[in-house]
Amino acid sequence: MALATGSTIGILGGGQLGRMMAVAALQLGYRVVGFAPAGDNVAADACTAFITADWDDRQALKDFAELCDVVTWEFENVPVSTVAALPEALLACPVRALEVAQDRLREKAFAASLGGVPAPYRAVDSAADLAAALAEVGTPGILKTARDGYDGKGQWRVRSGVEAGAVTFPGVTCIYEGFVTYETEFSVILVRGKDGTVKFWDSTANLHEGGMLARSVLPAGGLVEAQVAEARNLAAKVADGLGYVGVLTLEFFATREGPVFNEMAPRVHNSGHWTIEGAATSQFENHIRAICGLPLGVTKTRFEAIEMRNIVGEEALRAHAILAEPGEPHLHLYGKAEAREGRKMGHVTRVGHLLK
Ligand code: AMP
Repeated sequence: MALATGSTIGILGGGQLGRMMAVAALQLGYRVVGFAPAGDNVAADACTAFITADWDDRQALKDFAELCDVVTWEFENVPVSTVAALPEALLACPVRALEVAQDRLREKAFAASLGGVPAPYRAVDSAADLAAALAEVGTPGILKTARDGYDGKGQWRVRSGVEAGAVTFPGVTCIYEGFVTYETEFSVILVRGKDGTVKFWDSTANLHEGGMLARSVLPAGGLVEAQVAEARNLAAKVADGLGYVGVLTLEFFATREGPVFNEMAPRVHNSGHWTIEGAATSQFENHIRAICGLPLGVTKTRFEAIEMRNIVGEEALRAHAILAEPGEPHLHLYGKAEAREGRKMGHVTRVGHLLK
């Protein structure tokens, strides 16, 4: 049954993804209560109420649960214990999706078990494991913390055998993976409804700078287009396997040998921000529709060409000037208090030529 208008959606996490999700929820007549530890919780501006408490504050979680008719998350590192402390009936999506996606080793093994091809990798739990992984996988490669890394944080590139001698085990479980020679990075973003219906948005080419997404572009180019079907097939199997409900993202490298699975995010994704103006239904709206049991919207791309570019750090202070530029810029600013270096502050989407 669909969640009635006026019902309340709980969102765990307080960042820009929650903010844009809340805007979509409000548009569909829902109320939104956010929950996150103290910080620059920019989602709060768009929420009917916002609870600021630690992830392990059981009383605050109880209060939150009492306000909500359904609960979702906008951040994949919400502790599993936090989600498990909520009544299961409130959860839009099984907690297993978080458990798998929070751990690079688990997500790669899970994708591989469904036929996905990850980069060659080894688990690293000690200095001896690291030495063995470097020897077996070789260089170049990347050492990544298995958990809690994002936007290129918690990663160390090992370019050569000489550098391999200088890397040390960081003291937490890591994954060492071979460096993939790719033409383009792309993501598959899907929405899965409660009834198991799956819809995909077009895959953008994703350009990263310093390990962080800088731009997403459509059309994505011939190589990506040739590999999307195989990547979608894996993404649908992952979603079905997890009993997933909502928007799910899988990231890939398009290589000459086919799509290489990199990682998954059990949530709306930065590379899907273009869907707000560029698709018939945005990733945010369809996530809300899915978790509320509403019919899913058409995901079709509306324009011939689309570019989404992130606004990072101090550029945000001058970002209003973008509105005077040609090319139909759609500016989104997240209202973050501090324009720190490397911080995602907003994005701008440009679209060209409406598709008939
Ligand atoms: P991740 O946090 O795993 O998404 O890594 C951030 C970015 O680093 C990716 O989007 C790629 O641009 C780059 N990267 C990560 N892993 C690899 C790899 N195994 N080979 C080549 N580039 C990688």
